[in-house]
Amino acid sequence: MRTTGINRAFVAFITFLPVLIYQTEAFYIKNNLTSQYEYDGVPIEAGVDISDAIMVKAVEIPEETVTYEGSQVWRVLADNDQGEFVSYLQETGEVSKWVGTESVIDVLVRPDMIPRVSRFLRERQIKYDVMIPDLQQAIDQENPLPSPEELEELQGRKGHKMEWSSYHRLDDIHGYLDYLAVTYPSICSVMSIGNSFEGRPLKVLRISKGQPNVPSIWIDGGIHAREWVSPAAVTYIIDNLVENSDDLKADYYILPVVNPDGYEYTFRGDRLWRKNRSSPEKGGVCIGVDLNRNFGYKWGGLGTSKQPCREIYTGTSPFSEPETAAIKNFFDATAGNFSAYLTFHSYGQYILYPWGYDKRVPPDYAELEEVGRASAASMKSATGDHSIYTVGNSATTLYAASGGADDWAKAMLKIKYAYTIELRDRGRHGFILPAKYIIPTAQEALAAVNTVTMASLKNYKN
Ligand SMILES: [Zn+2]
Repeated sequence: MRTTGINRAFVAFITFLPVLIYQTEAFYIKNNLTSQYEYDGVPIEAGVDISDAIMVKAVEIPEETVTYEGSQVWRVLADNDQGEFVSYLQETGEVSKWVGTESVIDVLVRPDMIPRVSRFLRERQIKYDVMIPDLQQAIDQENPLPSPEELEELQGRKGHKMEWSSYHRLDDIHGYLDYLAVTYPSICSVMSIGNSFEGRPLKVLRISKGQPNVPSIWIDGGIHAREWVSPAAVTYIIDNLVENSDDLKADYYILPVVNPDGYEYTFRGDRLWRKNRSSPEKGGVCIGVDLNRNFGYKWGGLGTSKQPCREIYTGTSPFSEPETAAIKNFFDATAGNFSAYLTFHSYGQYILYPWGYDKRVPPDYAELEEVGRASAASMKSATGDHSIYTVGNSATTLYAASGGADDWAKAMLKIKYAYTIELRDRGRHGFILPAKYIIPTAQEALAAVNTVTMASLKNYKN
């Protein structure tokens, strides 16, 4: 078939669109027009990262599954000025940073880049370890699903499909919350506080014995789609609180999946998707906003990006996204007296308190540090693995990130104990934490909840 001039121009446009987007991004980076930080636990001085390229690919073929066949995750051990070389590799799109500090940086390397990046690092005597030799294989082995028969058996025996030896889809999680509300109506109720961009309900479970004068505690998970262990741990916490409801000392409001669209997309499109799934602005191409940069305190400051293709895109205004707006509206309307706001992420094993927007601390930081350390101690003794969690102020311990939920909860809602908790692991599996680690990780998360609950009670009575 003959190709007309117009067709040829169209084909050329489509073919080079990703290049164009990439170049635009590179322009912003080179001219320092974007922020300096990215990801959970990742200070990025400057750099295009492959996640942007992944998003470009997602634009080309929106519903196709992104494969990571042959991709590797490396831990780069950079001393002194060597971190700059890693930034350079990001700038050129040769690696994508997952997490890291200044000297230990986890990067995703695409298969076609492996020889070049390896040579580049060796030539500069920069050491690295291959953490994940085949990322797609790790993804394929991460979550051995129960068979449909086993799920039906669970449903028949327990009345819901939830268990903690595998990562569950949103329907199972929501079905579990509904089951609890029906089965334990005297202590559990479910409310939808709004809908996601694609119309999924944002279900909050309230667990309360109706005691007067007890503090309220907010717990959420899954604001970042790919951090699967977070909703898994939060539902495990729910299970434990309900099972031991005789001992309930506070009222809990729990939103296990803040970002249901993104969460579902990690199962069917791209396992490493982070943001929500809101449509691009008019004329734009990139999908999604980083919900943990969209809250209304110091919005758009350090550690954020106004570029819609970036992983840390702020959105067009504070609470521009239905998911964050729903949380704000909930708190505007609630009668609860909140003492704690706990938001669970992965990975890195950190207990972080405000501020995230800058290397500053709130006036009562010493108390936040103290309760953080008590939480870390309880997490360490929660399982035989003796996991170490590092405690500190977000911006200083990791990196600056403005517009986060914890800063907003502390500054605007005046909630005493606002923490972001980065669950397991410390990098061996990263975001692709095998399902067999859900229970020990969730036991650690539960230990933190119990410690913060005790602190909230003490604070409430004073
Ligand atoms: Zn996160």
